[in-house]
Amino acid sequence: MDIKKLREIFEDNYEELKYETGRSITLNMKEFAWQQVKLYYEKLGSVAKNMTEAEVKLILPEQVTPKGKKYTMEGIVDIVEKDDEITMYDIKTHNSEEVENDKDVYKGQLNVYAHMWKNLKGTEIDKMAVIATALPTKLRQATTIGDEIAVDIVEDWNPVVELDIDSNEVEKQIRCFGETVDKIEDGEFKAPTLDRLKEIKKGQKAPFGTAVCRHCDARHSCDSYSQYINKVKLDEEILESVQSEDMVEQDEWKDAFMK
Ligand code: SF4
Repeated sequence: MDIKKLREIFEDNYEELKYETGRSITLNMKEFAWQQVKLYYEKLGSVAKNMTEAEVKLILPEQVTPKGKKYTMEGIVDIVEKDDEITMYDIKTHNSEEVENDKDVYKGQLNVYAHMWKNLKGTEIDKMAVIATALPTKLRQATTIGDEIAVDIVEDWNPVVELDIDSNEVEKQIRCFGETVDKIEDGEFKAPTLDRLKEIKKGQKAPFGTAVCRHCDARHSCDSYSQYINKVKLDEEILESVQSEDMVEQDEWKDAFMK
């Protein structure tokens, strides 16, 4: 497919989403989204073409928490079946550095998905990977996607992070999910403080507020994140490191409150 056709599909898809949700985004945001789609297609078009089942819904019903509450687990994955080998992909909006740095967390989740797949289809998953769609920091900062620097960064960018299959993870993860369900039901969660959002975890380049909160569905109603993204009392040092990273997100945050 040529870029012109891809752009047409992107525009149609955008119009559909606008109609369905009743919300639009700023021109900056839309252009940023287009660059992300274009680069993703250039880099992973071959995986997309080989996809045998897209957006497969996996369900593990009738789970019981340690405190006896019933819950159901769900996940969505993409499947490529080639040469008698099944590869499962989980598409995340995180960037590959974040996935690499927190590999154990993703490994646990995907091993549960592999277990759900086996229950549903009766076959084993042979390989699994996260496709991390967020552009690397350097690429987000490159002003012109077509310039020489950006071309080099695109070449080095590997959005596919492979993870080990380990059936021992399944029981541990399901127990962990159950404990989390109990905490939610008991109202034991509250947002971390602004100081926590400003912390940079070992091995990560961005603070928690950027690396984690940016992907959280609850961020538009979270006080700590509101303070963080609007740069209330942010230290100069942190401010500098997140400034360009968060410009797009700041736009989106404001947009979420526009009628
Ligand atoms: S935005 Fe989400 S992840 Fe971040 S502090 Fe708020 S609730 Fe937690």
